Amino acid sequence: LSEKLEEAWRKLRGQDRITEGNIDEALRDVRRALLEADVNFQVVKEFIADVRDDALGAEVIKGVTPDQQFIKIVYDQLLKTMGEENVPLAESQVKGRPAVILMAGLQGTGKTTATAKLALYLHKNNKKALLAAADVYRPAAIDQLQTLGAQIQVPVFSEGAAADPVDIARHALDQAIAGRYDVLIVDTAGRLSIDEAMMAELERIKAAIAPDEILLVVDAMTGQEAANLTRAFHERLGITGAILTKLDGDTRGGAALSVRKISGQPIKFVGVGEKVEALQPFYPDRMASRILGMGDVLTLVEKAQEEIDFADAAKMEQQLLSGQFDFEDFIKQMRMVKSMGSLGGLLKLMPGMGKISDDQIRQGEVQLKKAEAMIGSMTKQERRSPDLINVSRKRRIARGSGVSLEDVGKLLNDFNRMRQMMKMMGGGGPFGGGMGGMG
Ligand code: GDP
Ligand code: MG
Repeated sequence: LSEKLEEAWRKLRGQDRITEGNIDEALRDVRRALLEADVNFQVVKEFIADVRDDALGAEVIKGVTPDQQFIKIVYDQLLKTMGEENVPLAESQVKGRPAVILMAGLQGTGKTTATAKLALYLHKNNKKALLAAADVYRPAAIDQLQTLGAQIQVPVFSEGAAADPVDIARHALDQAIAGRYDVLIVDTAGRLSIDEAMMAELERIKAAIAPDEILLVVDAMTGQEAANLTRAFHERLGITGAILTKLDGDTRGGAALSVRKISGQPIKFVGVGEKVEALQPFYPDRMASRILGMGDVLTLVEKAQEEIDFADAAKMEQQLLSGQFDFEDFIKQMRMVKSMGSLGGLLKLMPGMGKISDDQIRQGEVQLKKAEAMIGSMTKQERRSPDLINVSRKRRIARGSGVSLEDVGKLLNDFNRMRQMMKMMGGGGPFGGGMGGMG
């Protein structure tokens, strides 16, 4: 698969920009790659259309080759489609009641195994779980859950194979409330294919226990069918998330994309083996690189991102007069202004600023205090080379100075505008030159 994608990048290499003319071939390769990864064809179609829009609309960044830019766009779109972050299990929506999780899915997908895996996961997070054996159709199903429960020392509620699954679920919930459990996980029966009786039973269980979470268990090897499966379960039950099992196999995990795109609900966990420990939270970025063809692609993406950052910074540099003015100067200027009295008084003296209102002046002073706090939270290096300040640095500065990320962005914008203004004035600062004579 990653070969297909490399072909796509190669086709864009040596071009100076992404255009209608050269993108279609690259997109064809991406389409083929995703289909090979078992992403549903309808999902692929929509995905490709999104990537195409993004790629054609993308600003051409100097210093970044179109293939690098393209790979980044594909990767970002994958992340966007799968949700950018891991979504944790739902908490209980009903006070005094444990969180209730209903497991749903076809037979053999790994529901019973996932039930035990989740219980162990919760146990490791200091949550007490009760398991309910509501698959009464396969004689071995109850035994299987009890064996797994014993293995991880989590109790299993069962009323045998003659009881009604809806009653089992209801009684299990009663017991979970009485026993002050944190979570109840209800294992249910599956069929080999989607079938009316199975759906009706799940609906009745849902009505009886009002689960906080309905997890669709999907076998990653399901391939194209994952889409139809998800649609059928979601339309009938309204799933709140999914577990993708058997990712330890050699599938690329394209089903992840289908499940998410069709249901709009997040994949919360992945199963990576038969053992009860083999459960991991789902991380969209890891899955995106897996679907694209493993780590080497991720390295490419990172490299592309670096070059994009670098090119951005270089662009900014060009707009800079002499590169002399930095935040150290900025804060010096501000202190000087302060020592001279109010900002307002000063602004009124500046040419072209005569009509400034008192309100605007007060706002200006608040801004100034904020700016000081933000600059105070910058490292020396950041003050000297403001172009270094990327999103994660911005976030840190915002946290450090107790302002919003937006405030930091605004400060940087103001700062850049000031740099440009200085270029025009050609002096040692916005208040340089002429101001000196006032003191
Ligand atoms: P259910 O019918 O949906 O309850 O499925 P089971 O939990 O009984 O699992 C069916 C088979 O798949 C069993 O042999 C499990 O050991 C196996 N299985 C479940 N999850 C995984 C997984 O993540 N990886 C692998 N390799 N096998 C799994
Ligand atoms: Mg089962």
